[in-house]
Amino acid sequence: MTEIILQFEVDDRPTTPETVTDEALAEMLAHTGEQIREQVMRKTSDLRCAEHGNAPRITVTATYESASEQMELAYHVDACCQMLLLRTVQALNH
Ligand SMILES: [Zn+2]
Repeated sequence: MTEIILQFEVDDRPTTPETVTDEALAEMLAHTGEQIREQVMRKTSDLRCAEHGNAPRITVTATYESASEQMELAYHVDACCQMLLLRTVQALNH
C-alpha cells in the first residue's frame, strides 16, 4: 500500500499539529492533513510497480505562512524505478 508521510512547516519551521500552540492553527493543520492524506490515498492506493511489486512512498509537505495565511503543498515521491515514479506523479496530477 502507498505510504504517505505528512510534514508541516509553519513560518519555515518544521512542526506538527500536536505541538502547535495556536489552537485554531493546530486544528486547521490537522484537518488539512487528513484531507491531504485522503486525497492522496484515493489517487494512489492502487498503484504498484508491475516489475518490482513495490508501492510508492509519497511525502507531502504543507507549508503555512502566518503573515499571509497561505498554505502551500509540495509533493515528493520515492519509487523503486522511473516507471512507478512517472505513474505516481501522473496519478497525483490527475
Ligand atoms: Zn519498480
